[in-house]
Amino acid sequence: MRMLFTGREVAGVDVLRWPVVGGFLRWRHARSTLQLGLLVAATLVVLHGLLGPDIAPGNLATVLTWVHYRGLLVVALLAAGNFFCAGCPFVLVRDWGRRLHAPARLWPKRLRGKWLALVLFAAVLFAYELFDLWALPRATAYLVLAYFGAALAVDSIFKGATFCKHLCPIGQFNFVASTMSPLELRIREPATCQACRTSDCISGRRSVEAPQVIRQRGCELGLYLPAKVGNIDCTFCLDCVQACPHDNIGLTVRAPGLELADPRRRSGIGRLGDRPDLALLAILFVFGALLNAFSMVGPVHHLEHWLSGALGTSSEALVLGCLFVGGLAVAPLVLLGLAAVLTRVLTEDRRDSTGRVALRYAYGLVPFGFGMWLAHYGFHLLTGAFTIVPVTQSAAIDFAGWPALGEPLWRWAGMRPGAVFPIQLGCVLLGTVGSLTVLHLVSLRDYPNRPARATIPWAVVLVLLAAAAIWVLFQPMEMRGMGLIG
Ligand code: SF4
Ligand code: SF4
Repeated sequence: MRMLFTGREVAGVDVLRWPVVGGFLRWRHARSTLQLGLLVAATLVVLHGLLGPDIAPGNLATVLTWVHYRGLLVVALLAAGNFFCAGCPFVLVRDWGRRLHAPARLWPKRLRGKWLALVLFAAVLFAYELFDLWALPRATAYLVLAYFGAALAVDSIFKGATFCKHLCPIGQFNFVASTMSPLELRIREPATCQACRTSDCISGRRSVEAPQVIRQRGCELGLYLPAKVGNIDCTFCLDCVQACPHDNIGLTVRAPGLELADPRRRSGIGRLGDRPDLALLAILFVFGALLNAFSMVGPVHHLEHWLSGALGTSSEALVLGCLFVGGLAVAPLVLLGLAAVLTRVLTEDRRDSTGRVALRYAYGLVPFGFGMWLAHYGFHLLTGAFTIVPVTQSAAIDFAGWPALGEPLWRWAGMRPGAVFPIQLGCVLLGTVGSLTVLHLVSLRDYPNRPARATIPWAVVLVLLAAAAIWVLFQPMEMRGMGLIG
């Protein structure tokens, strides 16, 4: 069991040593190049959102943000890693801002962890549904601007990567999802770190001439590479790679998802089992995936109508609030609570409380949640992949006043929804199998004498969630932010 977590499952594969890709990633300006690319995209989103047509399928703000960005984000996480955090344009603008105003304070201790981020993550999901953001180019542009402003404001006051680590909802989504990524930053030789006297990977590399000057910053997220485990809180910024004077950090291939059952203490994080905020983030990630997809299918309107009648209110916020409390609080509380009680009964566990058991197993549901996000965002990406062409052509007309990129090819869209369905089903089923594997690893770790018994209640929960997910996928989905116009 312990051998699974030695961090050397796929020894010898180090992407940073690959000829072209590795060379690019090790280049000092690789990150800023990625960030500049996404900054250009964000600028177009804001400009077209504010100045372009107020029609979602014809505006870059809605199409790029809600169809392409989200879809490519989950695909990149599955295929490689957290490269969208690496290329985050908010951090680039924040870095420019810090040249004018260097932060002097530390983020207050009582606010550390994921508690605030949990609230913000849930608030973004809620606001997306309540205000129909996918249909509002201007609101989408303002949301992106608000994001730039928030990152700039927070990180101009507080040192380190405060916004990324403690607040950013997209970052938290990426941190949880990146547990399913095949790549991870790790040290190459433990002996080199043991002999290292400077620990530049975390403290930064100082100038030889003026030691008070840091030439290359270390890990802003507080991850000390020799004790780093897994991808949580890692933005793939590669600052540690640039800072290490011994070239002792590699981007290694590993088994996705295994870290969710890894019992080791992690630098900057601690043990997963001792972090209720992280476990709740995992739960929000999983049940948020189901709720977000459920909000797009027809039966949600019947349920909202019924709730509205039962509560005697016409307030959409109130009805949606009840739906969110039911989907993100009551359902996980009941399902995970019952499973934890049964696990304790079946294993005759008297050591741990029901809550602790539930939180330890919650991480095991992440692969299923990832499969559901992939099925949902992948649907929009595949059915709307080519819409970027006519919408960009249309934006060129809006900005230049003439068809600089040709007349918009409004017939270009993407795959038929029916053709995407088998892919969605495959995502959910693979996620379910992944979750079953991780849940059983948790049982082997925590109940080595009765692992099968311990897993049974969680397998039942997983089957229920998978059945709900497949039912949602069978419903016709709204083609949000897409559709032919013109
Ligand atoms: S990763 Fe590099 S800088 Fe960090 S402890 Fe190891 S050798 Fe030193
Ligand atoms: S460990 Fe830290 S410095 Fe290295 S890539 Fe991850 S976030 Fe960046």
